Amino acid sequence: MKLTIAGATGRMGQSIVRLAAQEGFSIVGALASPQSRHLGLDVGDVAGAGNLGVAISDDVASALLGADVVIDFSRPEALSRVLAVARRQNVAVVSGTTRLDADTEKKLDEVAATIPVLWAPNTSLGVQVLAEIVAEAVRRLGPGFDVEIVETHHKAKVDSPSGTATRLADAVRDARKGLHTVTGREGNVGPRAADEIGVFAMRGGDVIGDHTVHLLGPGERLELTHRATNRDLFARGALRAARYLFGKPAGRYSMADVLG
Ligand code: NAD
Repeated sequence: MKLTIAGATGRMGQSIVRLAAQEGFSIVGALASPQSRHLGLDVGDVAGAGNLGVAISDDVASALLGADVVIDFSRPEALSRVLAVARRQNVAVVSGTTRLDADTEKKLDEVAATIPVLWAPNTSLGVQVLAEIVAEAVRRLGPGFDVEIVETHHKAKVDSPSGTATRLADAVRDARKGLHTVTGREGNVGPRAADEIGVFAMRGGDVIGDHTVHLLGPGERLELTHRATNRDLFARGALRAARYLFGKPAGRYSMADVLG
């Protein structure tokens, strides 16, 4: 299968390039911001994966040329351009880029009418299973349990709360209709409302990504936690998603589909 990596010079991109080479994928294109391109690097230099002979480009059309699937971990503005070109050039899209605006989210649905698209704010298989377990716990425990989500990430992370925390809050909301999400709680705001899900973000050090969903009930509480200890886990999930998406009909897919 032929892959293009969008965001190839980034933390995630480098991990994907290295693992893709190890797993026998063929990389035919690499997209990064113009700043990366001007470094004069190629993918092999960046990833320490041997010289793969692919130049880094900031031109989406040429980076996607000949690819079956593009794996994107970049920025929302880049994803938006990737989606438009992927539709035109008939390339399937796996994206893990977070903090999408409403327009880009809409575009995911629009292009999925023509090509297969999988977007996941967390491509680890463990987080998908956590979301499913959390939904089950919320349904079984009922409205007597309050739900709060705490996430921790490295200090360079650009978005807050994380896309994964939002995804977990969505799973809670879907399981128990009527809850609304509150991001953080500043100062003394009085008692917690019964119908809210608090989402709290901590930033510091080099934490790759921890998420704990607290279910707080009368006389007991559950803490369901996922800890990422290595960025490769997201890359492995993205590559597994690419393998799953290859040859699928047009449509929106999720990590739940990949897990089966
Ligand atoms: P990073 O800053 O290390 O890398 C960003 C990459 O995108 C770089 O290669 C950069 O050159 C490229 N880029 C930025 N702007 C661009 C533009 N306008 N056009 C083309 N390329 C551009 O970031 P990162 O830590 O690798 O994370 C990338 C994204 O993936 C973020 O949105 C992050 O939240 C998300 N992420 C998702 C998961 C997941 O499991 N879904 C896991 C980790 C990170």
